[in-house]
Amino acid sequence: MARVQLQGLGKTYPNGVRGLRAVDLDVEDGELLAVVGPSGSGKSTLARLVAGLEEVSEGQILFDGRSVNELAARDRDVAMVFQHPALYPHLNVAENLAFGCKARGLPKQEVVRRVAETSDLLGLSNILNRRPATLSGGQRQRVAIGRAIARRPRVLLLDEPFTALDAPLRLAIRADLVELQRALKLTTVLVTHDQSEALAVGDRLAVFGDGSLHQVGTPFGVYSRPASRFVAQFLGYPPINILNVTIEEDGDLKWVRFAGERVRLPAGLTLPPGSREVGLRAEHIQPKAPGDSRLTGNIRRIEPLGHEVLASIQIADILVTIRLVADEGIVVGDRIGLEFDFSHAVWFS
Ligand code: ADP
Repeated sequence: MARVQLQGLGKTYPNGVRGLRAVDLDVEDGELLAVVGPSGSGKSTLARLVAGLEEVSEGQILFDGRSVNELAARDRDVAMVFQHPALYPHLNVAENLAFGCKARGLPKQEVVRRVAETSDLLGLSNILNRRPATLSGGQRQRVAIGRAIARRPRVLLLDEPFTALDAPLRLAIRADLVELQRALKLTTVLVTHDQSEALAVGDRLAVFGDGSLHQVGTPFGVYSRPASRFVAQFLGYPPINILNVTIEEDGDLKWVRFAGERVRLPAGLTLPPGSREVGLRAEHIQPKAPGDSRLTGNIRRIEPLGHEVLASIQIADILVTIRLVADEGIVVGDRIGLEFDFSHAVWFS
């Protein structure tokens, strides 16, 4: 497998649209990097540039330290899987799986071994003789993934491979893919618009917006320490609460003032007095009995998630969403107290 380095990578399309700007990003050998961002943020452009399906406008793409800018797609040894699998219709599943291995001239025995291993791991062993037209969407996508993996490309690129599948299938195929990727240590770039998918499967995430790389880091790192308001709001469900607060200084003590009340700023946080914007995740605002908190409000909206409910609570002029353990007794209009844990807050500058 290869280590991939993007250096100052940019793409301007012939119509003048800048699909990607000045991206510096490394994909380590054997790593699964999730490239995530909203629609139009440049994710597919990045994948197509790495695959060699688009010409680079600026910068370099290196595989193991050597530029591949001038290499044609077929010479890069990159395998791609798209949202809608493109299989060879006249070949059965076994032949589809074997295709890339044969094209690379692998010995027959090795091809047989890889087809058996891949079909085993992806649950395709009992449909090896079937043609693509007779398969379900999920089976076809499994074959496409298997075909890409069987030939052990230097880089595996997956562009929204699970988007067209229904939820249970998506989770099952995703889990199998991650297992295979880890076992074979394939250098993998997974493009997805789905932040929960990126958090779930990426060794690291690269968060894109408007053609630029905003942050790269581990799932926990980018979720808990987002580098910008954009990243904070894009990652996580429910979306992070954004509050406008004022930092006040009172002798040795510092306070956070909002919703007509003030709470102590956690020790160790040094923030200058004045207005600030702060992000606080739902799990860092705890419910209290109304009598135990000066910050109380009424539930305005409820979104049941099964094991828990998301409750949006109006306190004075702010609306915050918190998580509550599911309980049939929770209804709109309920009065509830809140405790804000600013030690986990994200302070935006
Ligand atoms: P994503 O995959 O994140 O949805 P894309 O990489 O497809 O984003 O697109 C990034 C930007 O480049 C968008 O503004 C899109 O409209 C533009 N774009 C993509 N492909 C082309 C193309 N072939 N010609 C012109 N503009 C394009």
